[in-house]
Amino acid sequence: MSETATPSRTASQGTEHFDVLIVGAGISGVGAAYHLTRQCPGKSFVVLETQDSFGGTWWTHRYPGIRSDSDLHTFGYRFKPWTSAPIATAAEILSYMGEVIQENDLGPHIRYRHKISSASWSSQENLWTIEATRTDTGDAVRFTANFLWMCQGYYRHSVGYTPEWDGMATFKGQIIHPQTWPEDLDYKGKNVVVIGSGATAATLLPAIAQDCAHATMLQRSPTYFRTGRNAIALAEELRALHIQEQWIHEIVRKKILYEQDVFTRRSFAEPEVVKQELLSAVRAQLGPDYDVETHFTPSYRPWRQRIAFVPDADLFKGIASGKASVVTDEIERFVESGILLKSGKTLDADIIITATGFHLNVLGDIAFTIDGEPLVFSDTVTYRGMMFTGVPNMAWVFGYFRASWTLRADLVGDFVCRLLNHMQAQGVRRVVPTLKPEEQDMPLLPWIDPENFNPGYIMRGMHLLPKRLDKPEWQHTQDYWAEKDEFPAIDLTDGTFVYG
Ligand SMILES: Cc1cc2nc3c(=O)[nH]c(=O)nc-3n(C[C@H](O)[C@H](O)[C@H](O)COP(=O)(O)OP(=O)(O)OC[C@H]3O[C@@H](n4cnc5c(N)ncnc54)[C@H](O)[C@@H]3O)c2cc1C
Repeated sequence: MSETATPSRTASQGTEHFDVLIVGAGISGVGAAYHLTRQCPGKSFVVLETQDSFGGTWWTHRYPGIRSDSDLHTFGYRFKPWTSAPIATAAEILSYMGEVIQENDLGPHIRYRHKISSASWSSQENLWTIEATRTDTGDAVRFTANFLWMCQGYYRHSVGYTPEWDGMATFKGQIIHPQTWPEDLDYKGKNVVVIGSGATAATLLPAIAQDCAHATMLQRSPTYFRTGRNAIALAEELRALHIQEQWIHEIVRKKILYEQDVFTRRSFAEPEVVKQELLSAVRAQLGPDYDVETHFTPSYRPWRQRIAFVPDADLFKGIASGKASVVTDEIERFVESGILLKSGKTLDADIIITATGFHLNVLGDIAFTIDGEPLVFSDTVTYRGMMFTGVPNMAWVFGYFRASWTLRADLVGDFVCRLLNHMQAQGVRRVVPTLKPEEQDMPLLPWIDPENFNPGYIMRGMHLLPKRLDKPEWQHTQDYWAEKDEFPAIDLTDGTFVYG
């Protein structure tokens, strides 16, 4: 790979070449760019992003109240202190990311409005060729890169997932997906039904309830929530002592991660006790007469799906105030005036919001070929949820579900940079994760064990995802606490990585 940080033109006119091409300028892509500048200062790189600006998830989602559901000390990068309340709005996260870009001069490396459509690997040249379209001009553009760093997230940004219900066309009001929220949506004084029970529904409900005639969260089944003050007492204390923000960030991260580790382990070891703790916190907010059993008691054990944090109990306060309510029932069909439920009741609505999730988007809707053959991603086996058998010079950042995504983006960042530096030192141009002979007959398992974690978008898209083996090296373990020690110790010469 070249030593220069500036791109070079290849023989094919108009094709720009970079050592590394990063797909996406969300929290992962911007993090990848930062790690490259610090850990591989000689490498040239470019970030290609479809949208008009950076932020990914935080740029796409614009519904009222949009905020993180995990704390920003751990969702923030390890290298840039988070100095505000732990649960942050999208605007705050974008502003933080903007500072990262500016402070590290990453802006010149990012090309917005570049939608990548294909990526083709040539073993003869040890090179990826990436075709993209400029969404502003419609021009086709081409890049070559030695290494592809996939930071495209896990869901399709252009459109959310809305199930098909009978009678949808007969409904006289508006149907909106939160992912494509119209800027001018007028919900003042209207009856709004939000279908869903996850973090999005829980955020939206209190954010719109005060302006609506009434806001109803319609859920098929309940979800676990945690609640508390949107503040970290230890951070406040340290700040009062004028401790440096870098130290506060580090100490608070350690505290949060320790507590999350304990909580996760308890969820597996004593699920019933944890369940009762979560439910009693909800009961304390909603009072003894509220039917917590029906509306807030999931049938699954805690942590099998993501547990959203409700800052300052705003969801529960909205319900207690009478402006918002929860209905637990199933949809029979849409009718002119709203939704007919299986129980026979009708929910009248002017606006129905389908907070029903995402379309899993494996590899950013990019058509991959390897030496002319289409890549069937589900035929590969994943190396630690970041590389794939038979796919040379490529890594994907797929974060954690039970801990903040960015913890893993930082770990993968360190690993990729170490791998790139190792390849340079060895004078090799290709790396392919490969099963060792003794691993080749191991049963191929789905990407994740549904007993472990089973949100709808993963279950709907499991057939598209790579396979895993029953050993930590060949799966995404979702275990930050193990990976934080395992990743730096990965032996790049143990035969798993085949170089060329
Ligand atoms: C509403 C919401 C709240 C969330 N809150 C949290 C939270 O609190 N904590 C947490 O850990 N996780 C949270 N998540 C999960 C969240 O998506 C991830 O944590 C994280 O933001 C993903 O970052 P990313 O950069 O990997 O991907 P994304 O944010 O999805 O960004 C990917 C980028 O790649 C671009 N891209 C994709 N395909 C192409 C292509 N073909 N060509 C060019 N560009 C492309 C996209 O336009 C996008 O900008 C939340 C998700 C949602 C939807």
